[in-house]
Amino acid sequence: MMTYAQWFTMHGNKHRELVQRLLSKGLAQEEIIAYFRFENMVEKEKDFCELYATQTKCHEMDDLNCYLCACPNFRFTQNPKLKEEKLIHSHCDIDSKDGKIFEHEKNVHQDCSGCLVPHHESYITKHFDTEWFQVMKACED
Ligand code: SF4
Repeated sequence: MMTYAQWFTMHGNKHRELVQRLLSKGLAQEEIIAYFRFENMVEKEKDFCELYATQTKCHEMDDLNCYLCACPNFRFTQNPKLKEEKLIHSHCDIDSKDGKIFEHEKNVHQDCSGCLVPHHESYITKHFDTEWFQVMKACED
Protein backbone atom coordinates (compact mmCIF):
# COMPACT_ATOMS: atom_id res chain seq x y z
CA MET A 1 0.00 0.00 0.00
CA MET A 2 1.19 3.47 -0.88
CA THR A 3 2.18 5.85 1.92
CA TYR A 4 0.79 9.38 2.09
CA ALA A 5 4.17 10.72 0.96
CA GLN A 6 4.38 8.39 -2.02
CA TRP A 7 0.87 9.29 -3.17
CA PHE A 8 1.59 13.00 -2.64
CA THR A 9 4.66 12.93 -4.89
CA MET A 10 3.04 10.75 -7.53
CA HIS A 11 -0.14 12.81 -7.71
CA GLY A 12 1.68 16.15 -7.65
CA ASN A 13 3.85 15.09 -10.59
CA LYS A 14 0.82 13.94 -12.56
CA HIS A 15 -0.98 17.21 -11.79
CA ARG A 16 2.05 19.25 -12.88
CA GLU A 17 2.35 17.36 -16.17
CA LEU A 18 -1.32 17.92 -16.97
CA VAL A 19 -1.34 21.61 -16.03
CA GLN A 20 1.81 22.23 -18.08
CA ARG A 21 0.10 20.57 -21.05
CA LEU A 22 -2.98 22.79 -20.63
CA LEU A 23 -0.84 25.92 -20.23
CA SER A 24 1.10 25.06 -23.38
CA LYS A 25 -2.22 24.98 -25.23
CA GLY A 26 -2.90 28.50 -23.97
CA LEU A 27 -5.69 27.75 -21.49
CA ALA A 28 -6.40 30.51 -18.97
CA GLN A 29 -6.99 29.92 -15.25
CA GLU A 30 -10.77 29.66 -15.60
CA GLU A 31 -10.45 27.19 -18.45
CA ILE A 32 -7.96 25.06 -16.55
CA ILE A 33 -10.32 24.88 -13.57
CA ALA A 34 -13.20 23.95 -15.87
CA TYR A 35 -11.05 21.24 -17.48
CA PHE A 36 -10.67 19.60 -14.06
CA ARG A 37 -14.43 19.04 -13.69
CA PHE A 38 -15.09 15.38 -12.92
CA GLU A 39 -17.10 14.64 -16.07
CA ASN A 40 -14.43 16.13 -18.35
CA MET A 41 -11.57 14.40 -16.54
CA VAL A 42 -13.32 11.01 -16.72
CA GLU A 43 -13.61 11.44 -20.47
CA LYS A 44 -10.19 12.92 -21.30
CA GLU A 45 -7.74 12.02 -18.53
CA LYS A 46 -8.50 8.40 -17.72
CA ASP A 47 -5.17 7.81 -15.95
CA PHE A 48 -5.38 10.79 -13.60
CA CYS A 49 -7.42 8.98 -10.94
CA GLU A 50 -8.18 5.30 -10.49
CA LEU A 51 -11.85 6.09 -9.73
CA TYR A 52 -12.34 7.39 -13.29
CA ALA A 53 -12.39 3.85 -14.70
CA THR A 54 -15.71 3.19 -12.96
CA GLN A 55 -16.91 6.82 -13.12
CA THR A 56 -17.10 6.83 -9.34
CA LYS A 57 -17.06 10.16 -7.53
CA CYS A 58 -15.00 10.33 -4.33
CA HIS A 59 -17.66 12.73 -3.00
CA GLU A 60 -21.32 12.84 -3.96
CA MET A 61 -21.79 16.36 -5.29
CA ASP A 62 -23.03 17.71 -8.60
CA ASP A 63 -20.11 20.00 -9.43
CA LEU A 64 -17.20 17.90 -8.28
CA ASN A 65 -13.91 19.44 -9.38
CA CYS A 66 -10.65 17.49 -9.06
CA TYR A 67 -8.12 20.37 -9.25
CA LEU A 68 -7.33 20.50 -5.54
CA CYS A 69 -7.47 16.82 -4.73
CA ALA A 70 -6.38 15.98 -2.07
CA CYS A 71 -6.81 19.21 -0.02
CA PRO A 72 -4.52 22.06 1.06
CA ASN A 73 -5.85 21.67 4.62
CA PHE A 74 -4.88 18.02 4.92
CA ARG A 75 -1.85 17.37 7.12
CA PHE A 76 0.11 14.15 7.16
CA THR A 77 3.35 13.02 8.67
CA GLN A 78 5.74 10.14 8.20
CA ASN A 79 6.62 10.41 11.89
CA PRO A 80 3.27 10.17 13.69
CA LYS A 81 3.13 11.81 17.10
CA LEU A 82 1.74 10.09 20.14
CA LYS A 83 -1.34 11.81 21.59
CA GLU A 84 -3.37 10.19 24.35
CA GLU A 85 -1.80 6.84 23.46
CA LYS A 86 -2.81 7.15 19.80
CA LEU A 87 -0.53 7.67 16.82
CA ILE A 88 -1.75 10.64 14.76
CA HIS A 89 -0.88 10.07 11.09
CA SER A 90 -3.01 12.82 9.59
CA HIS A 91 -5.44 15.57 10.58
CA CYS A 92 -7.40 18.52 9.20
CA ASP A 93 -5.75 21.89 9.75
CA ILE A 94 -9.05 23.78 9.83
CA ASP A 95 -11.00 21.16 11.82
CA SER A 96 -13.66 21.03 9.13
CA LYS A 97 -17.04 20.33 10.67
CA ASP A 98 -17.55 17.64 8.04
CA GLY A 99 -14.23 15.91 8.63
CA LYS A 100 -14.09 12.71 10.66
CA ILE A 101 -11.51 10.51 12.27
CA PHE A 102 -10.66 6.99 11.17
CA GLU A 103 -9.13 4.79 13.86
CA HIS A 104 -7.46 1.44 13.46
CA GLU A 105 -5.93 -0.04 16.60
CA LYS A 106 -3.63 2.74 17.87
CA ASN A 107 -3.57 4.60 14.56
CA VAL A 108 -5.61 7.71 13.82
CA HIS A 109 -6.18 9.10 10.31
CA GLN A 110 -8.21 12.00 8.99
CA ASP A 111 -11.33 10.87 7.10
CA CYS A 112 -12.37 13.48 4.53
CA SER A 113 -15.14 11.45 2.93
CA GLY A 114 -17.87 13.79 4.21
CA CYS A 115 -16.09 17.07 3.44
CA LEU A 116 -16.49 18.96 0.16
CA VAL A 117 -14.29 22.00 0.93
CA PRO A 118 -11.53 21.58 -1.74
CA HIS A 119 -13.88 20.40 -4.49
CA HIS A 120 -15.87 23.63 -4.91
CA GLU A 121 -14.72 25.88 -7.76
CA SER A 122 -15.04 28.98 -5.60
CA TYR A 123 -12.47 27.49 -3.19
CA ILE A 124 -10.19 26.41 -6.06
CA THR A 125 -10.33 29.88 -7.61
CA LYS A 126 -9.43 31.48 -4.27
CA HIS A 127 -6.42 29.20 -3.73
CA PHE A 128 -5.44 28.75 -7.37
CA ASP A 129 -1.85 28.10 -8.33
CA THR A 130 -0.66 26.32 -11.46
CA GLU A 131 1.87 24.54 -9.22
CA TRP A 132 0.03 21.92 -7.14
CA PHE A 133 3.04 21.41 -4.84
CA GLN A 134 2.92 25.11 -3.99
CA VAL A 135 -0.77 25.02 -2.97
CA MET A 136 -0.12 21.87 -0.98
CA LYS A 137 3.17 23.00 0.56
CA ALA A 138 1.92 22.82 4.16
CA CYS A 139 0.43 19.32 3.84
CA GLU A 140 3.48 17.35 4.91
CA ASP A 141 4.22 18.01 8.58
S1 SF4 B 1 -11.75 17.51 6.31
FE1 SF4 B 1 -12.16 18.79 4.48
S2 SF4 B 1 -10.96 20.67 4.78
FE2 SF4 B 1 -10.21 19.12 6.22
S3 SF4 B 1 -8.48 18.13 5.15
FE3 SF4 B 1 -10.30 16.92 4.71
S4 SF4 B 1 -11.13 17.72 2.76
FE4 SF4 B 1 -9.69 19.23 3.60
